[in-house]
This record gives sequence, C-alpha cells and structure tokens, in this order.
Amino acid sequence: MSAALNHSELLERLFSKYWIRVLAVFAAYFVAGKIGLSSPFTRDNVSPVWPASGVALSAVLLFGYRMWPGITSAALLVNWGNLPHGAAVGLACGNTLAALTGAFLLRRLSDFSTALSRLRDVLGLIAYAALGSTMVSASIGITVLFAARTHPWAGASSAWLIYWLGDAMGILLVAPVLLTLPQLLRIGEWKRLAEFVMLLALLAMVCFVIFGDQTLIRVKLHVLAFAVVPFVLWAAIRFGVSGCAVATLLIAVIATGETALGFGPFAQDAPLTNAFLLHAYFGVLSLSGLALAAVIAEREDLQKEREELIRNQVLREARLQLAAIVESSIDAIVRMDMRGTITHWNNGAEQLCGYSAEEVIGKSIGLLMPPERSNDFAEIMQHLTKGQRIEHYETLHQRKDGTRVDVSLSVSPIFNTDGRVVGAAAIARDISGRKQAEEALRKAEKLSATGRLAAAIAHEINNPLETLNNLVYLLQDNESLDETGRQYLRLAQGELQRAAHVTKQMLGFYRHSIEPRAVNLADALNLILDLYSRQTASSHISIVKRYEGDNTIRAFPEEIHQVFANIVRNAIEAVPCGGTITLHVFAGHQWNNGLRSGSRVVIADTGPGIAPENRERVFEPFFTTKAENGTGLGLWVSSGIVQKHGGSIRVRSNTRDGQSGTIFNIFLPSG
Ligand code: ADP
Ligand code: MG
Repeated sequence: MSAALNHSELLERLFSKYWIRVLAVFAAYFVAGKIGLSSPFTRDNVSPVWPASGVALSAVLLFGYRMWPGITSAALLVNWGNLPHGAAVGLACGNTLAALTGAFLLRRLSDFSTALSRLRDVLGLIAYAALGSTMVSASIGITVLFAARTHPWAGASSAWLIYWLGDAMGILLVAPVLLTLPQLLRIGEWKRLAEFVMLLALLAMVCFVIFGDQTLIRVKLHVLAFAVVPFVLWAAIRFGVSGCAVATLLIAVIATGETALGFGPFAQDAPLTNAFLLHAYFGVLSLSGLALAAVIAEREDLQKEREELIRNQVLREARLQLAAIVESSIDAIVRMDMRGTITHWNNGAEQLCGYSAEEVIGKSIGLLMPPERSNDFAEIMQHLTKGQRIEHYETLHQRKDGTRVDVSLSVSPIFNTDGRVVGAAAIARDISGRKQAEEALRKAEKLSATGRLAAAIAHEINNPLETLNNLVYLLQDNESLDETGRQYLRLAQGELQRAAHVTKQMLGFYRHSIEPRAVNLADALNLILDLYSRQTASSHISIVKRYEGDNTIRAFPEEIHQVFANIVRNAIEAVPCGGTITLHVFAGHQWNNGLRSGSRVVIADTGPGIAPENRERVFEPFFTTKAENGTGLGLWVSSGIVQKHGGSIRVRSNTRDGQSGTIFNIFLPSG
C-alpha cells in the first residue's frame, strides 16, 4: 500500500516538472495526430476527425498556456513530410493557436471548470472551444493549404467545413475524456468498476451489431444507430461526465471504423455525406449525454451543499447551546491564546474576579495572578506547550479590588486541526468556602489537642497542689506564726484554691469515669444549689425550681455536676442582689433529631445578659469578661462535657434594660 503510494507520489512529483509535461503533451498529440491522419476520408492532411485538437485543448486547460511548445512541435512532426514545409509550419501554428484561443475563451468568458460538473461547463466547451476556437485552426489551415497549392476536397468552403468539423469533433469526443480522467480513475470500488467494464463491453457489442457487417440485421436504417442511446444514458447516470465521455468515444471509434470499411447505416452515401452524418450523430450523442451527466452532477452538488448547510446549521446551534452553557456557568471559564492573552471571559469569571469581559479581553492572564504567585504563569504555559492538562491546581487569584480568592484551576490545551496547541481553556472554581471549613476544622483539632494537653498537665499539677493546700492548711495552725505570716498564708491558700479550681476544670473535661451511671438531674441540681446556698442567701437571690417528671439519665455524674456547677455559678455571679435564678427540668427531644429522647435542663437568670458580640464566644476557651476573677474555661469545659454525652447546649440572652437575662438550655440524651 505504502509502496504503491510512494510510486504514485513519485510519478506525480515527476510529472509536475514542466519539461516532462511538455514531453507528455508532445507524445499524446503526436499519437492522436497519427490516428487522425489514418482515419478514413482523410485527404491531404484534412481529416474528418482530428482527436489531436482535443489533446491540445486539454493540455492547455490542465497545464497552462506554457504547453504550446509540445503542441507545436508535435503538430509539426505529424505533418512533416506529407506537406510542403511551409504548409506544415502553418498548420502547426494554426492548431496551437486554436488550442490557446479555446482555453482563453473558456477561462475569460465562462468561468470554466475542467471537472465539467456543471451544465455551463459542458455548454461552454461546445460553444467556445469545439465550435468557436476551431474556426481559427480551420481558417489558418485551409488558407495555408490553398497557398501551398494543396487542394483537399472539392472546394475551399467544403474543405474548411471538413477541417472545422474534424477539429470540433476531436474536442467534443476527446477533451471530456482527458479533462475528467482523474474522476474516472477514482472509480475505486470493484463493483462499480465491474459495472463500468460490463457497460463498455455491452456497448461495444451493440455497436458492432449496428455498425458492422449486416449479416445479423439486414436493415440499413439510420434509426438503428440510436440503439446506443440507452448505454450513453446509463453511463451518464451511473458514471457521470467521465463515464459518458468514454462511452461516446467508444461509439465514435467503432462507428467511424466500420463506416470507413463500408458497413453500417452511415456507409450508404458519398464519403463526404457519410462524414457529415456521422458528425451530426456524434454531436447529438455527445451533447445530450454530457449535458445529462452535468445536470445530474450539478444536482448532486446542490444536494451535498444543502446537506452541508444543514450540518453547519446543526453545528452552529450546538455551538450556540454550548456557548450558553459556558456563559451561564458559575465557574469562571476563560479562553486564552498561547501568549496568555485572554480571548473569552464568561459570566462566572466576571463574578469571581470582578472584571467585566470588555475590561480583560485582549489583556494578559497574568493580570489575575497575584505577585506572590507570579511563577504560576510560566509553569502553566510550560505544561500547555507540551499539550498537557492541568487539573485541580489550587492557587490564588487576584480580584479587581486587589483581594485574593482561593481557586481550584483546571487548564486544557486547545488544538487546531493540525494537532498544534493554539490556546487554552481555563476553568477556575471558587474554593474559599471549602478553605474556610478546612481552617475551622484545623482550629477545632488544635483546640482539642490543646485541651488534651491541658488535661494532662492539670492531672500532673493536681496532686502536688493538693499536697501544698494541705501543708498550707496545717501551717496556718502553727503557733509560732505572727499575724502577718498568717495573712500571707491565707492569701497563699486563696491562690492555691484558685489554681486547684483551674486544674479541676481542665481535668473534668477529659477525665473519664470508668462507666456511666444513673444520674437524676434534679438531684444533681439540688446538690449544686446546696453548695452555693450561702452565696445565694447572702445576695438575696431567689431560686425557682420546676422539676417535671423523673429525669434520670445515664451519664458520668462528676461531669454533670461540673456542668451544673459552672452554669449556676455564672448565674450567681451575674444576677444582682435580689435577682432570680430559675431551674427547669423536663423530658424532651434533641432539636435536630426528634427521635432522640432525653431530658432538658433550662437555667435562666435575671442578670444583665451577654452582649450580642460575645454570645458566639462564651464557649471559647479563655474567653472571659471577668478579668482577674474569671478563667474563661467554665463554659468551654461544660460544652465539651455535654457534647461528649451526645447532648447539646445553647444560650439565649437579652441585654435590654428591665427584661435582661440569660438562658442556658441543655439537652442530655437518656443514655
Ligand atoms: P468565667 O466565668 O471564668 O468568665 P465562663 O466560661 O464560665 O468563664 O464564662 C465565660 C463568659 O461568659 C463570662 O466571663 C461571662 O462574660 C459570660 N457569661 C457566662 N454566663 C453568664 C451569665 N449567666 N450571664 C452573663 N454572662 C455570662
Ligand atoms: Mg464561669
């Protein structure tokens, strides 16, 4: 296959050389000329069929006017010896000039295409070349011959007519075959090839029957000659202009030969009359066959054009739909060329970066890259030139207002039809939300690690603290101490208690009892209230209790005590003298999961409330508004314990005068 290709390539390259073409034209013309001269009824080099005129015209139409040396020299050689030298030169010039004139007229007047696939091409070939340009060769030829005292045929006018018709027939029969030869060679499919061969074989048979020795059919009527018409139509319909041209040429060759031998319907009159009749016959066959084939080809082209148009329309619609999708995408979709110049900018890009399409199209993509990421551009381009994709590359873009936005970037190279990278499509997705969530998670993780560390430290410190506390207590009773010493010791004990409190808070968060036990929430609250009864009494704080039903859950009792202690203590610290603390315990369900049953504890106070800006922060570790007196750990520890038990804690607060207060709402599942 490749060898064959190389072979044909080699031939093509060889044939593209000027002098080889000229040589080929010379050879073809010479052969055609010899055939023409040997054709019947030829007298003094005026032949009734001159195929060389078709060769000459085709050569000029296919390869250009520069082919004239091949034509002239071949024409000269054909006639050399048969005629006086001057006449031979004159005829050669006349023939060359006719071919050049024919090609010139066709190109200038009819926008001629050598494929002959339009009716206008066929009609142009007949009118301008076959009938028109041949007048030049006929006129020059007859003038030259008469000047050289060679008198073909009876008179000048009939000689001119024969000369003209001979050239015209040569063009009409031979030029279509040569011009459309490439189409004929393209019948590649063997089925079609077989059909074509069969067509020609049948046609040849019919021709021999009609034009040959009439032993089979003893009718000598011209009408019979039209029995070949169906074959010409067959060729025209199935094999186009080229097939039809070959079929007509075949008929012409057989008919001319048989007629010359004196057979067939065209061999009944004087030779000149026979020649005229044959010409008329070939003319009609060729004209109708070629015209039909051209019209069919034209219709097929039109059909193809229409299909192409429909395909284009469908494509255009698909493209429009795609464009609409790109336009409405929330992701930023940007197209750029290989210099990084932005050529397309969608709505998503406008939303993400703040630039409108008019502002950025034609500018460099580097505009979006913050200075600290200036290396990105070169790196991306490097990948693209290699035709590689970049997927989900996380980087920063700079918005029009200078702020940065986290994006995930995917860039794909765009190839042209030759497979070369001509640009890229970049899709950028805003991932700042995800980044924030990731950051929050990291923070939570850090917090939990800190908490664990704090608990470990607290555990270690707790025991020595306990010992210190005891030692200070014992020391206080020592008689040898004066009042100042005792004062210092009391201060030391206060501070030690504070330290013990902090370590206990921390431990509470992470200390695990071995197993949860039944804890009655009302009892637990009462226990805490007892602990703080002195403070509440001295501040005239009234306690309102509403315990509904039996609220026993499975939990770690020390931890539950710690939660209640923290919240009640905060309430006592918050309410002014004469305030109220309300405790409400009842059966309830999880807020976000109605199936989860348990108990709800609501602890409300009439204190000043928590300022709105602090409400979010009260559960953060070390957040306190009590300066030296607070640790900021109570609520953090409490919420950790509640969450560990699978419950939840919420706070609502009001700071408006007269109705201020804070409500802690705790849900604890039954177990
Ligand atoms: P601390 O009590 O050591 O400050 P907490 O974690 O117990 O630490 O409380 C954090 C902060 O929450 C307190 O400093 C206070 O500002 C606020 N807070 C807690 N409970 C109440 C309450 N019942 N009324 C008003 N503010 C409160
Ligand atoms: Mg507290």
